[in-house]
Amino acid sequence: MTNEELLDQSFRDSIGTVKKDGKRNWIYPKKPKGWYYNARTLLSIFLLAFMFGMPFIKVHGEPLLLFNIFERKFIIFGMFFGPYDFHIFLLAFVALVVFVILFTAIYGRIFCGWLCPQTIFMEMVFRKIEYWIEGDFRDQRKLASSPWNKEKILKKGAKWAIFLGISYLIAHTVMAYLVGIDEVKEIVSSSPAERPAGFLAMNAFTGIFFFIFAWFREQACIMVCPYGRLQGVLLDENSLAVTYDFVRGEPRGRLSRQIEVDEPPKGDCVDCHLCVDVCPTGIDIRNGIQMECVNCTACMDACDEVMVKIDKPKGLIRLDSLTGVRTGKRFSFTARVWIYSVVLFILVSIVTVLMINRTDLDVSILRTPGMLYQDQPNNKISNLYNFHIINKTFYDQKIELKVKGLPAEIKILGGNSTVKPLEVYEGRFMLLVNKNDLKELNTKIQIAAYQNGEEIKTVNTSFLGKYEEK
Ligand code: SF4
Ligand code: SF4
Repeated sequence: MTNEELLDQSFRDSIGTVKKDGKRNWIYPKKPKGWYYNARTLLSIFLLAFMFGMPFIKVHGEPLLLFNIFERKFIIFGMFFGPYDFHIFLLAFVALVVFVILFTAIYGRIFCGWLCPQTIFMEMVFRKIEYWIEGDFRDQRKLASSPWNKEKILKKGAKWAIFLGISYLIAHTVMAYLVGIDEVKEIVSSSPAERPAGFLAMNAFTGIFFFIFAWFREQACIMVCPYGRLQGVLLDENSLAVTYDFVRGEPRGRLSRQIEVDEPPKGDCVDCHLCVDVCPTGIDIRNGIQMECVNCTACMDACDEVMVKIDKPKGLIRLDSLTGVRTGKRFSFTARVWIYSVVLFILVSIVTVLMINRTDLDVSILRTPGMLYQDQPNNKISNLYNFHIINKTFYDQKIELKVKGLPAEIKILGGNSTVKPLEVYEGRFMLLVNKNDLKELNTKIQIAAYQNGEEIKTVNTSFLGKYEEK
């Protein structure tokens, strides 16, 4: 029988957060500590500072990041994107999906444990507050099973009040990304009757966050998150994941000072259960890679500490592939990893090139449909054109239109072609050409748009006019 076959597979019939009778198995994970936990804490501080600070940073009076889906206005690191940039969004979205699939196939669920906002808030904010108020896992369990005495009311009340406050803070920040920090300030400083939609949205978001972090917790990853549910098809035996080295660890057993003569040799796992105690999703990683595992690496820290104490090498639980554990070879860049990485690189390059080549101004010109030409004084003919200019910058932009290679005059009807920041200007102009300059009824012409004297776009169109022999 191999080490793998020794492992009991019955855990696959249930999930760690549900008891046999179908009730919630509330998880009280032991407070983690160790190198990986410290690294995650530092990364989380950086990511949280980024998330809460970003809405306050403005460039030319506009936020650095804005995802206003209501007005279809998006600003990404100072670059404005509107509905007319749909193709870039679509490509970026496809690239993101492919990126996620390929990244997961190679590096597993590292994103879940280290970068996902759900895990960061749950483990690095709400859970830390819980440890601070209620103590470590044993104290929490004891408090939960105790009657509602003064201590329990005080501790639970204080915890939930702080949770609610943080949920409000997260809701306001999320709203700031959607409608901008100025609008959030307006909502906060107005009465609910003045801004009922904003008030309702803010409270709905707060309620959702409070529900998730105070009660729903790890179930969001296990039952709701589509990315988590996809793991079964995205991972294979060569994917990196938090993995228990069953070759080295089995057969597990408690350390005993006296070794019986006929006792079979034991593996490195001393069956201390610490890797299970620290797991926020309530699983035993020694059973193998499981859907519930978010790769938070808490069990790696716990096991490394044990290995140091019993004078064995660290890494009984480590980031490795199943193939790596079976063969003993360290994870290396295989042909598959290289191919996936090249595809990823190409995708990211395409989106980057599109972003770089994206112009600040978009100009389109079209001869007004259904209109022929008009005779004008001084032996001239005119055609009418529609034009629209999209200003994707934060400044006023004045555009000049000129016809290339043909003496012609452009008269913009009803105003000038100055476009306000982040606005679309739609107008009309009349193009006047001397009849003697026209050789045929339908003349191909080029109209160029200039910004500060620099040509930014040339549009091919046509000019209709009566052909006259000289
Ligand atoms: S098994 Fe380990 S890595 Fe996976 S969720 Fe539990 S503690 Fe985190
Ligand atoms: S922490 Fe390590 S030694 Fe302890 S039970 Fe888990 S795998 Fe075995």
